[in-house]
Amino acid sequence: MVLRTINDLGDLRGKRVFVRVDFNVPIASGRLADDVRIRLTVPTIEALLAAGATPILISHLKEGKPRETLAPVAEHLEQLLGKRRVQFLRDRIGTPALARRLDALRGGSIALLENIRRYPGEVANDRSFARQLATLADAYVNDAFGVCHRAHASVALAPTLLPSAAGLLVEREVTVLSRLLEDPAPPFVALIGGAKISTKLPVIERLLGVADAVLLGGALVNNFYAARGYGVGASLVEASGIAAAKQLARNQKRRNLTMPLDVVVGDPGAKRPNPRVVTIGARPHIICEQPLAILDIGPATIRAYAQQLKSAATIVWNGPMGKFEQPPFHHGSVILARLIATRSSGRAFGVVGGGETLAILAQTEMARYIDHVSSGGGAMLAFLAGEKLPGLTPLMQ
Ligand code: ADP
Ligand code: MG
Repeated sequence: MVLRTINDLGDLRGKRVFVRVDFNVPIASGRLADDVRIRLTVPTIEALLAAGATPILISHLKEGKPRETLAPVAEHLEQLLGKRRVQFLRDRIGTPALARRLDALRGGSIALLENIRRYPGEVANDRSFARQLATLADAYVNDAFGVCHRAHASVALAPTLLPSAAGLLVEREVTVLSRLLEDPAPPFVALIGGAKISTKLPVIERLLGVADAVLLGGALVNNFYAARGYGVGASLVEASGIAAAKQLARNQKRRNLTMPLDVVVGDPGAKRPNPRVVTIGARPHIICEQPLAILDIGPATIRAYAQQLKSAATIVWNGPMGKFEQPPFHHGSVILARLIATRSSGRAFGVVGGGETLAILAQTEMARYIDHVSSGGGAMLAFLAGEKLPGLTPLMQ
């Protein structure tokens, strides 16, 4: 997939550029708890300023909380950009007041508009709202990879109404993720975990076609056990999970699918959860009974997966191997995260993504060792599943 880039927009001197960014950062009592997403867009903002453009930044904030304000982000961005002035414009899109303020912006300044989810037309992907958005600027740049899988007006429609291109972050994400699907250096090993098999099934199926091995962990594996009649006690099993597990078991490439050899069970509700290792037999048996649940992959599995990851030239990881938020069930995720970090930058090309998966990297301070940490959880999964992303299609060359 080749996208148009900022250079393809031609001479941007004196032009206003609508930049869709993902500033959906955690804010508690007006303070930013984390600014990674803001930092990731700084290169694009600086490139546009260097080209003589005036960036008009547009972002959403917090799903389901449209009253949330981006005001603290404007202040923070100002500091990141070396005290360059960032004007936070509260005027509503579509009003003459906003149009006047935008007209008054001088070259070299930056504007940030209020949370786009305050407008019902955004999520509804409304055409007339998109037309209002298009009047704000002369060109459009998408640097919000995290929302590219959303058919929202500022993501999917606005770029069809203006000369449009991908920002530097979106460009890098697409280059790296395309390489995984189209030209991965072999052996390519994928490690997929997490809670729900339904959200991971499309990506597992797609990866089975391109990876040499797909290693599974996390609660999603419980669905396979349940489908085959193993006793899983209080383990997390999804309503539609058994059907999904059966579908995967029929996949032509299922030879490449690797399941845990053993798991760690425990009582998730108890103060002392009493972790115990259970080997998974070839024939259905009781893995655990209520109130016990499967909460992590076991030591033999960690060793086997580590071996596979050590021989890999390309690695992609999404999804925790267990309930890592509750020690001691973090071991599987943390040990394999460390291994991926030590293999990355040199011996293997490592790509990691996903909301909770990144939380593991943050906790263990390992993100910096990974070749590519994706800024989009859902968007990365959709891309790797081979889906058409509504935010990327309008930017294709
Ligand atoms: P990501 O956001 O990285 O894609 P998911 O959203 O798919 O990851 O899944 C993350 C969640 O899955 C974590 O909160 C973790 O606690 C949970 N999880 C993984 N394995 C288990 C398990 N065996 N039992 C209960 N929860 C689990
Ligand atoms: Mg998640």
